[in-house]
Amino acid sequence: MMRHLLILGGTTEGRALAAALDGRPGLRVTSSLAGRVARPRLPAGEVRIGGFGGPEGLADWLRAERVDAVVDATHPFAAGISRNAALASAATGVPLLVLRRPGFTRVDGDRWIPVPSLAAAAAALLPRRGERVFLTTGRQGIAAFAHLDGVHFLARSVDPPEPPLPPSFDVLLARGPFTVEGELALLREHAVDVLVTKDSGGAATAPKLAAARELGLPVIVVERPPVPEGVPVVPDVESAVRRLEQSR
Ligand code: NAP
Repeated sequence: MMRHLLILGGTTEGRALAAALDGRPGLRVTSSLAGRVARPRLPAGEVRIGGFGGPEGLADWLRAERVDAVVDATHPFAAGISRNAALASAATGVPLLVLRRPGFTRVDGDRWIPVPSLAAAAAALLPRRGERVFLTTGRQGIAAFAHLDGVHFLARSVDPPEPPLPPSFDVLLARGPFTVEGELALLREHAVDVLVTKDSGGAATAPKLAAARELGLPVIVVERPPVPEGVPVVPDVESAVRRLEQSR
């Protein structure tokens, strides 16, 4: 096993990988968080918080800290840091592995409307697909809907969102995992008639899709950005650990 591993985290998978590897003899594990969440769940091992300063800053950090391998375990929609990691890996020769959980699975009864971006999700709401929208795109995604009036938004995020916000807007501060029962109660209580989500995947947030299916609600699903070309990808923590063990 290599001596110093950098995990680009901010996800359940990032924390699980750090927990799986921390404490192995001869291995130093550093997790990096962007610093977006006020009180993040901290992974095991060393943690650094804040941006690196673009791909060059990350490359400098990899050299200065003598990093032997990087796992990009960031959120599937965190395309900026994933691109930076690919560029820094190419510049330094430090191997990079992407740990990306699979997207949500569509099943019979789902009324999904796939769209390529948050802007397209907002446009898809315009033909009055619903009056009361449950928005689970995360705090930073809400601005894309700020210009929409005549529609009420209920948004769920970990920290309070900042303007610009839609004119008719309520926020629910919560952090997963969620349950199907809880999501059903929420959708009913707020008389939601359409859901907007990113295709983040993961068990923690999938229950909203089961609840929408049960209530027959349409779900606007923002598709994932692609993983940087040429970078190996694994779907789960166990596969990542195996790959790292093989590449020592
Ligand atoms: P992003 O747009 O891909 O990244 C923007 C900038 O934030 C990067 O260029 C980098 O700054 C910094 N950054 C991002 N992740 C970092 C990390 N793990 N460690 C150090 N710096 C990081 O990212 P984002 O979509 O804002 O997401 C930020 C973080 O939140 C990610 O780590 C991600 O795993 C987590 N997250 C994101 C979402 C989502 O929906 N996007 C959901 C849940 C969790 P520099 O260029 O200065 O290095």
